[in-house]
Amino acid sequence: MADAVNPFESLQEQIDDAAAYLDVPADVIGRLKAPERVLEANLGVELDDGSIEVVRAYRSQFNGDRGPYKGGIRYHPGVTRDEVKALSGWMVYKCAVVDIPFGGGKGGIAIDPADYSTAELERITRAFAKELRPIIGEDRDIPAPDVNTGQREMNWIKDTYETLERTTAPGVITGKAIDSGGSAGRVEATGRSVMLAAREVFDYLGRDLEGATVAVQGYGNAGSVAAKLIEDLGADVVAVSDSSGAAYDPDGLDARGAKDHKAETGSVVGYADAETLTNEELLTLDVDLLVPAALENAIDGDLAADVEADVIVEAANGPLTPRADDVLTEADVTVVPDILANAGGVTVSYFEWVQNKAGYYWTLDEIHTRLREIMEPEARRVWSVMKNKDISMRVAAYVHALGRIGSAIEAHGTKAFFDR
Ligand code: NAD
Repeated sequence: MADAVNPFESLQEQIDDAAAYLDVPADVIGRLKAPERVLEANLGVELDDGSIEVVRAYRSQFNGDRGPYKGGIRYHPGVTRDEVKALSGWMVYKCAVVDIPFGGGKGGIAIDPADYSTAELERITRAFAKELRPIIGEDRDIPAPDVNTGQREMNWIKDTYETLERTTAPGVITGKAIDSGGSAGRVEATGRSVMLAAREVFDYLGRDLEGATVAVQGYGNAGSVAAKLIEDLGADVVAVSDSSGAAYDPDGLDARGAKDHKAETGSVVGYADAETLTNEELLTLDVDLLVPAALENAIDGDLAADVEADVIVEAANGPLTPRADDVLTEADVTVVPDILANAGGVTVSYFEWVQNKAGYYWTLDEIHTRLREIMEPEARRVWSVMKNKDISMRVAAYVHALGRIGSAIEAHGTKAFFDR
């Protein structure tokens, strides 16, 4: 990829872009551009054949000025220390955009889970949880699911932590199964916020989502839920993809049908009468709305020049390289940034944590209402910063977030900030 960049450098560039519009001291910005600490562990795990394999795991705690570190755990062969650092930084800014009282963290293990049995994955996850135990906690650092992890892994981590600590602490992790202290609506929360962001931005642009054409790259948790909910608003989801390729039907696919097909066959490719495209072809389709929902750097500067979508709503974290972002801004493509668009995941994780701490659980309707009540006004605040300062929506989101982080630092003093 021509300008595939280190995601950590992308994050730092985004922070610098926003800092130019705010009066935040240089030493504070310097501290906000790198994690407070990173745990790196070599986990020795017994495989089913009795052999031992060593896998590399990370947890980055980026900043805790607004509350406990918060962020997911990813299992993917592409996980690196710098990727985890970048993802943990994006969490800091994401929590601040939607005013959730958390800082940012992120974890990952550099494995392809498809290479392991369920028993091996459980041993890997529990070994990681043992490493994490001293640094996580309900008021310290609260992991959650991300790519290739879900309720099952969260439950293993919670169970390991509680066993070692001889306590019950459901708020140590979010994204748990409902029976294990999870929240209604958490599984669908990220996709739901992508739908809410799409609805808000179309409204802002004076465009109709009903009848709009939509392409979604990545059909996992975030992408498939976003597709289904956007389709429910009357849009035509014409293309969806996963790592094996894309399914395209100009007359519209059935988002739920495509998900069932993936569950049955392992991929969206081959769904019904859809044509098979490459991911690159999907990303350059002439659609009203493009939702990248896979991984970082999906669109680089060269590909961006061929993007024909009018609006991009980022479900994935960091799907555009900085050069792609520049090319698309220059081409007047409206990009709703990840730190706003996919913030529903962490918002409902926050709801889950609040419910765990209170021991009192909310209905699905309450979750949906509270999520909407956070997402809609925060989106409008970002639009307003964008208009007032005449900057892109991404820079506006960072300015909005950085303002809140700066206020928190000011409130408790920079001594505490540098001593943490
Ligand atoms: P997931 O594992 O459920 O799904 C990922 C999907 O992307 C899969 O369908 C996979 O096949 C596809 N994919 C992988 N590589 C691809 C490629 N090169 N081209 C096309 N498709 C590809 O993961 P998820 O939880 O849906 O996460 C997706 C993105 O959303 C990530 O960037 C993640 O950080 C972000 N996100 C997730 C959450 C959450 O709550 N799950 C919250 C915020 C942000």
